[in-house]
Amino acid sequence: MSEIYRTDVVVIGAGMAGLVAANRAAQLGLKALVLEQSEADRYLCNSRFTGGTLHVAMSDIMLEPSDLARNIEKSTQGFVSPEWVQLFASEGRKVVRWLQDEGARFLKASAMAYQSWVLAPPGRIRPGLDWEGRAGDVLLRNLEANLNKRGAEILRGARAQDLIVENGACVGLRAVRAGQQLEVRAKAVVIADGGFQGDPELVGEFITRHPDRLKQRGAGTGMGDGLRMARAVGASLVGTDRFYGHVLSIDALHNDQLWPYPYLDALVTSGIVVDAKGERFADEGAGGVYVANMISQLDDPLSAWVIYDQAIWDGPGKNGLIPANPHLPKVGGTVHQASDIAGLARACGLSESALSRSVASYNDALANSAAQALTPARSARKATPQPIRSAPFYAAPLCAGITYTMGGIAIDVHARAVDEKGAPVSGLYVAGAAAGGLEGGPAVGYVGGLVKCGLTGLRAAEHVAASLNKP
Ligand SMILES: Cc1cc2nc3c(=O)[nH]c(=O)nc-3n(C[C@H](O)[C@H](O)[C@H](O)COP(=O)(O)OP(=O)(O)OC[C@H]3O[C@@H](n4cnc5c(N)ncnc54)[C@H](O)[C@@H]3O)c2cc1C
Repeated sequence: MSEIYRTDVVVIGAGMAGLVAANRAAQLGLKALVLEQSEADRYLCNSRFTGGTLHVAMSDIMLEPSDLARNIEKSTQGFVSPEWVQLFASEGRKVVRWLQDEGARFLKASAMAYQSWVLAPPGRIRPGLDWEGRAGDVLLRNLEANLNKRGAEILRGARAQDLIVENGACVGLRAVRAGQQLEVRAKAVVIADGGFQGDPELVGEFITRHPDRLKQRGAGTGMGDGLRMARAVGASLVGTDRFYGHVLSIDALHNDQLWPYPYLDALVTSGIVVDAKGERFADEGAGGVYVANMISQLDDPLSAWVIYDQAIWDGPGKNGLIPANPHLPKVGGTVHQASDIAGLARACGLSESALSRSVASYNDALANSAAQALTPARSARKATPQPIRSAPFYAAPLCAGITYTMGGIAIDVHARAVDEKGAPVSGLYVAGAAAGGLEGGPAVGYVGGLVKCGLTGLRAAEHVAASLNKP
């Protein structure tokens, strides 16, 4: 016989999205219960590890809504619906204000505009993971304390497994806790399980033939349970082939000092990336997140190299808070160096003629302002391409670091799951990285993990409350 809980809203997952939704629901007078699969007091999740920057499409979240909308469209190139573009642009700032009211502190972490609103205290400037007592850890503890004050709780060690649907409406879920079945009866369910990056089967179905050759650049706790549950009750999925992540050193697979930082995006977007044949295979100018996705699609996702020269190493190599220069070699990331490209190819085991050809045609194209005529074309969307001419030359072996899946369960503007026809699945809501359609797409446009959590969490709770006639 299952233990039965009764509540207004049951939330799956106690990351930022789940705790925003639960707190907002409780604030609006609803009874809320959060299930968290981990038993640990400080359970790991991407929100615990987060860098904590509240931005919209890498712009200051407080920028004029019309400017933000333009930046989202530029980044996602029409993939995100106009309604969600407007919501991010005009209501992203509400997330910051609401979190401040919940006790979150923000600071400006650098001169870069997108880092104007960073959860305090931010991570220290050093390679590797650094979460204890930092941005996301403090936020989660704070939100849990607020939830408890509002008379609600996180039920730890409870893993949601399937949804209960009656008369076409989602009215609860079944979960397992300490080997025992439990059932939660609720007026609404919010899926906030963080995506499916931690599940090799789903990553294999949607993203790459070699899930084991990607590096988890996060907690890896999003197992796609929510996606499976939602799919089973008729919800549709969108944009599941894309992920947010960065280009990492291949050594991140066994060296914890090489993830989540430093990442090598600045080298990649300034130089070139080649495959095992020594040939370019992606538009490096489309950004590190894009290139990480393209690496994952190679026949062997562990066969890519970034090629750059001394000028790139001394320039863009030093860009970013925890840059590749000097951190990559300092903490043990492989970097080959040679006085000419043929020597570099030999050091990497690449074809001398192929790599020399790739570098020469790239340099010629830049010299003739013909980068768009290269195959694949080279854009300057995220950074200006630089020639690879000043010796010594460098090569670093790469892997794709997956932080969270950008696609997932399709939602409407109230964060309700929708079916193939766009009709809401009554009683079923989705928040945070579990939601699809809000970023990604062919251009792999990044809008922001945290703003997505905040906005979908608030909107889900507010819609549940409104539909139950709460103020
Ligand atoms: C290193 C790093 C840096 C980042 N920096 C930034 C940044 O600066 N700015 C930004 O916008 N984004 C950033 N992100 C991304 C952002 O942190 C995430 O997108 C966001 O925190 C996701 O929150 P979430 O609540 O959706 O998922 P999560 O925080 O992953 O929470 C999901 C929770 O659900 C639980 N769960 C899963 N399945 C079940 C189940 N079946 N039953 C019960 N519980 C379940 C998991 O255990 C987990 O605790 C970063 C991420 C990482 C890893």
